Amino acid sequence: MRQVIKLKVAFLFLCLPFVANAQWFKHSFKVMGTMSHVEFWLDEQTNSLDVSGSELDTSHNERAQALIKSVEQEMFRIDQQMSPYKEQSELSLINREAANKAVSISVELFNLLNTAQHIAKISDGAFDITYASIGYQYNYREKTRPTQSSILKALPAINYTAITLNKEQSTVHFNHQGIKIDLGGIAKGYAVKRCLSLLKKAGINHALVSAGGDTGLLGDRNGRPWLVGIKHPRTEHKTAVHIPLENEAISTSGDYERYFIEDGIRYHHIINPKTGDSVRKVVSVSVIGKNPTYVDALSTTVFVKGLIEGLALINKLPEFEAIIIDNQRRLHYSKGLQ
Ligand code: AMP
Ligand code: MG
Repeated sequence: MRQVIKLKVAFLFLCLPFVANAQWFKHSFKVMGTMSHVEFWLDEQTNSLDVSGSELDTSHNERAQALIKSVEQEMFRIDQQMSPYKEQSELSLINREAANKAVSISVELFNLLNTAQHIAKISDGAFDITYASIGYQYNYREKTRPTQSSILKALPAINYTAITLNKEQSTVHFNHQGIKIDLGGIAKGYAVKRCLSLLKKAGINHALVSAGGDTGLLGDRNGRPWLVGIKHPRTEHKTAVHIPLENEAISTSGDYERYFIEDGIRYHHIINPKTGDSVRKVVSVSVIGKNPTYVDALSTTVFVKGLIEGLALINKLPEFEAIIIDNQRRLHYSKGLQ
C-alpha cells in the first residue's frame, strides 16, 4: 500500500512541471460596441513561439498576456479601420467621397468589400452593405427612425450593384449619390477570423474568440467539443440551445441586440434592403461553418430572407448549416443538422 502511495506521489511529481505550465487563459474586453472574449490553452510547446513564429524567452504568463494583447489590438485595429462612427476610419472616408470619385482603399478593406458583394450576389441582395443609406437614419438608443417619406426618398440608394470595385487599382466607387455603406453584418466575423489565425500562427491549437454574437473556435476544449450557447431571444442571460462544436465558427443574428419598441412594433438593426424597414420574419438565426467572415454575413443574410428562403439558401451551400428560431419560438434546422 505504502509502495503504491509512494509511486503515486512520484508520478504526480513527474507530471507537475508540465501541468503547471499548461493552462487556459481568458480575457474579456469591450470593442466595436460589444463584448469580446478570448480563451486559449497554452502549453509548453506553444510557450516558445511568438506571433511571427520566432523564438522568445518569456515566462508562460507573460507569453499568454502578450497573446491576449495582440488579439485585443487586432480587434481595435479593425474597429479603427471599419467603424462608421469614427471620422478617421477608412469606411468613413469611403462614405464621404466614393459617390464623387473612385476612392483608393487598403487591399484588406477591398477584399472584405469584395466578400460582402459576393454574399450580396448569392443572396439576391438580402445581404447588402448599402442598407446603411437608410440604416443610419435609425437610432436605437434614442428610439428614432426615418419617416415613410424619407425611407422612400432614400430607398434607391440601397443597391449593392451601384458599388464598383476595381481590383487592379484597389478602388471603390458609388454610381449613385446618397449611398452609404456599413460593415456591421460582416466585420466582427472578419475580426474573429483574423484573431484566430493570429493565435494559430503562434502555435495555439485550442481557442475561442468571440465578438458579440460571432464566435470562432480552434480545436476542442479538454478533449470535448466546445459548447456554444445560442441566446434565448426574449429572456436575457438565458440560453435557447447549446451546440457542441470543434474547429468551427458560429454567428447569431437576433432582433433583440439593438432595438426599440414603438406602438407594439419592434424596430431593430437588421434591415430589409427592399423596404428600408426592420425584418420581422424570424427572431434569431445562427449559421455554422468554417469561415467566420462568411458565417457572420450569412447569419444576417438568412435573417433577412426568413425561414423558408433562408433555409433554402443554406441548404444550397454545403459548407454551412443554420439554426433558426421563428416568431413562435420554434427551432428549425438546416438539412445537415436534422
Ligand atoms: P449581425 O450583427 O451579424 O446580426 O448583423 C447586423 C448588423 O448588420 C446590423 O447592426 C447592421 O450593421 C448590418 N445590417 C443590417 N441589415 C443588413 C443587411 N440587409 N445587409 C447587410 N448588413 C446589414
Ligand atoms: Mg451576422
